[in-house]
Amino acid sequence: MNTVKKLSALLLSLSLLLGGCGAGGGPKTEYLFAMDTLMELTAYGKNAGEGIRGAASVIKELEGLLSVTDQGSDVFAINRDGGAESVAPHTRSLIAEALLLGDMTGGALDITIYPIVKAWGFTTGEHNVPGDAELAGLLSKVNYSDVELDGSGVSLPQGVEIDLGAVAKGYAGDMAAQAMRDSGIASAILNLGGNVQTVGSRPDGSPWRVAVKNPLDPGREDYLGVVLAEDMAVVTSGGYERFFERDGETYWHIIDPATGRPADSGLVSVTVVGPSGVLCDGLSTALFVMGRDAALALWRERGGADSGFDVILVTESGRVTVTAGLSDRFTLLDTENFTLDVAE
Ligand code: AMP
Ligand code: MG
Repeated sequence: MNTVKKLSALLLSLSLLLGGCGAGGGPKTEYLFAMDTLMELTAYGKNAGEGIRGAASVIKELEGLLSVTDQGSDVFAINRDGGAESVAPHTRSLIAEALLLGDMTGGALDITIYPIVKAWGFTTGEHNVPGDAELAGLLSKVNYSDVELDGSGVSLPQGVEIDLGAVAKGYAGDMAAQAMRDSGIASAILNLGGNVQTVGSRPDGSPWRVAVKNPLDPGREDYLGVVLAEDMAVVTSGGYERFFERDGETYWHIIDPATGRPADSGLVSVTVVGPSGVLCDGLSTALFVMGRDAALALWRERGGADSGFDVILVTESGRVTVTAGLSDRFTLLDTENFTLDVAE
């Protein structure tokens, strides 16, 4: 989606989200372009300006550390040099979390996917469909358990490269929400290009209403549905976010590490809701790869209210499944094209 479309989609979501602002000051809203996306930070209360400045500053700092293409970043140095003796604490903790999520998802989340992402041209926009032999060669370099963390250092075997694109915005959302809380903000909503992070509730005490994009037409206002959220991240991965078409085929940016090809699990969109943005972000990408049945199996094993995540799965045939914790927090809006069921 181009920037103008993104901006109009965000403004539409803003009008939906702000449908009743109450006492306590604000809101203040600022936009910033970071991590390759347009972000919208809104806070209420007398410290709203300070909260937004703190949030924007930590997002910019993280972008500087985590970008895979910025020559000054930690990730760029790690990939160029096969590791780094010392990286920033943020970089280290995000890598550590992403490796744990790799374990949790049986390798569906694999931060060493970068050579494959490059071969498809998703980093440069020079799209390409790699051949079988090329993919097989590159796949031999994909294995997140090859990443070694030692103190503040990171090392990678020859030819292995990492990409934190599947988790960076979720982590940034967590840190930005923390910056808001540190400024005394009790009510804020941060939209980091589709990764929504809420702080507290709306100023009138009611939950935030977070719109979930319609995978059939993500640029338009007819949302798939709305999630009620308080102190929660709401993170969506969809094939529609970044893709190209070649000879009648659509190729999207979420890659199955088992094949090196765009994930083909029957899901067109996955939304994960929970208190940890980084967990929700990593899982939204991984569950998109794993497919509906494996996603629900993982939720039954590790999800739910206590350990902290629920999901909204959308299949290519128009079936929307929400897990039990969301049954009274999700409303399906596009009932014309989708049916809703609840997984227990
Ligand atoms: P997201 O939008 O959070 O689902 O993340 C997608 C981005 O993560 C892609 O643009 C790639 O940079 C990267 N990526 C794609 N597939 C994977 C995967 N299976 N594991 C980890 N990162 C991935
Ligand atoms: Mg993700």
